[in-house]
Amino acid sequence: MVAGKYSNNGIAYPNPHCDKSPTSAHHYIVVEKDIWECKYCHIPIWAPVYLSDSEKFATQIRFKGIQRAYIEAVHHRPEVRKKIRALESIRND
Ligand SMILES: [Zn+2]
Repeated sequence: MVAGKYSNNGIAYPNPHCDKSPTSAHHYIVVEKDIWECKYCHIPIWAPVYLSDSEKFATQIRFKGIQRAYIEAVHHRPEVRKKIRALESIRND
């Protein structure tokens, strides 16, 4: 749990280590628009695809760190949150 303005509600920037990948790193493939998942362990992640979003996100990471920046970015994108939750529940079935 990360302290701050928004609750993470179970959403967090994934641990960079992948248990199932041969390289131990996630290998993200696009699911739709700005939602990706690892082709090995299927962990879902939001990542900006537009340059303006990427620049804003990079600035937030510099100020707040990846975990807090990620939680806030997802907090401000209800559709992304919904989709990530749905992907997580399939993955945990
Ligand atoms: Zn993975």
